[in-house]
Amino acid sequence: MLAIAQVGEAILNRQVQQVTEFSATLTQLADNMLESMMLAKGIGIAAPQVNQSIAMFIMASKPNERYPDAPYIEPCIVVNPKIIACSDELVSGEEGCLSIELQRFVILRHEWVEVRFQDLNGLEHQQTLTGFIARIFQHEFDHLQGITLYERSAMQTESSFGEDAQ
Ligand SMILES: [Zn+2]
Repeated sequence: MLAIAQVGEAILNRQVQQVTEFSATLTQLADNMLESMMLAKGIGIAAPQVNQSIAMFIMASKPNERYPDAPYIEPCIVVNPKIIACSDELVSGEEGCLSIELQRFVILRHEWVEVRFQDLNGLEHQQTLTGFIARIFQHEFDHLQGITLYERSAMQTESSFGEDAQ
């Protein structure tokens, strides 16, 4: 199992590099990340959390003790993701993070996002994600920009003074 970086470690606040080589090493890293995520009972994990500053994460939602209401989706490896469109509507929900043990945050996310990413073979995919899956995507996407739940919740608190609810 790979060690999971905890908040306070610099790697979690660093902007990642794009993946340019779709090699066996990348696949091996994805396998190790998936295993570590499952052992830690996570529903997603991003490369910076295992000390790799590259644009890759995994979403693999299924109900477990940490997220009893999570929907089931097959593990999805996401490389070089982009959010190309999103809903104006924001929804709030509770999130935890493998890098912030024992804490939950109420976080606003776009209700849906239209995303583009590559798989481990470099093939392009485009999908529209909604609800909880959209939330996982946005959480992991934040990790690639060096944003953890600490920074995200602080941003919300600051901006909530200027913006009214629509
Ligand atoms: Zn996280």
